Amino acid sequence: MKSPLDIRKIFDALDRQHPGADTELHYTTAFELLAATILSAQSTDQRVNLVTPALFARYPDAETMAQAAPEDLEPLIHSTGFFRAKAKSLIGMARMLVAEHGGEVPADMDALTALPGVGRKTANVVLGHALHVPGFPVDRHVLRVSNRIGIADGDDPEQVEAQLCAELPPERWTRASDTLILHGRRICKPKPLCDQCDVRTHCDEAARATRKTPSRTARSRKQ
Ligand code: SF4
Repeated sequence: MKSPLDIRKIFDALDRQHPGADTELHYTTAFELLAATILSAQSTDQRVNLVTPALFARYPDAETMAQAAPEDLEPLIHSTGFFRAKAKSLIGMARMLVAEHGGEVPADMDALTALPGVGRKTANVVLGHALHVPGFPVDRHVLRVSNRIGIADGDDPEQVEAQLCAELPPERWTRASDTLILHGRRICKPKPLCDQCDVRTHCDEAARATRKTPSRTARSRKQ
């Protein structure tokens, strides 16, 4: 187990390696970020950013999107994949915002996760980035990177979220998640680029890999 001080040092080093880490989704309002995050499921932020300008030009808020039919939305979001389910979620989400929240995105985890298509990760993205409520989104990158480094243990997103939140003050949660996500996309990919990683001296996975690979001297002694 790593000490709280070590964990802070790891996050500080990741901050320095990825200065200004932020969500890569483009948005101007909480509603746009909520819709973009729903669209990002099983897609990429870059792909979503290509479709949202036209989508938000036509449906800039919950009121306008609530009046859409699925066949209006589907062509606009087709390239993000699972477009039928996503169109249904977007319209359902917009209608519930209008019916229950005056068309506004609520700054509350329970209210957000009650919306169609919105899970805990999506809710945390919106809370942390657009509503100034600390949130720690845990996606597959956060799971992979935090387990490899050894600052979290497990593959349950909610448990890993709780473990990571316990190590940092709330004001660092959202940025820390963004940093882990960027690290997972750029450096600690499924096939990790450990030689480019600024936390390799703290990383459990890197230590395991070093133990598995005998040094040149050890190899030559065996031959
Ligand atoms: S040292 Fe390698 S495995 Fe560990 S966090 Fe860095 S890139 Fe990932």
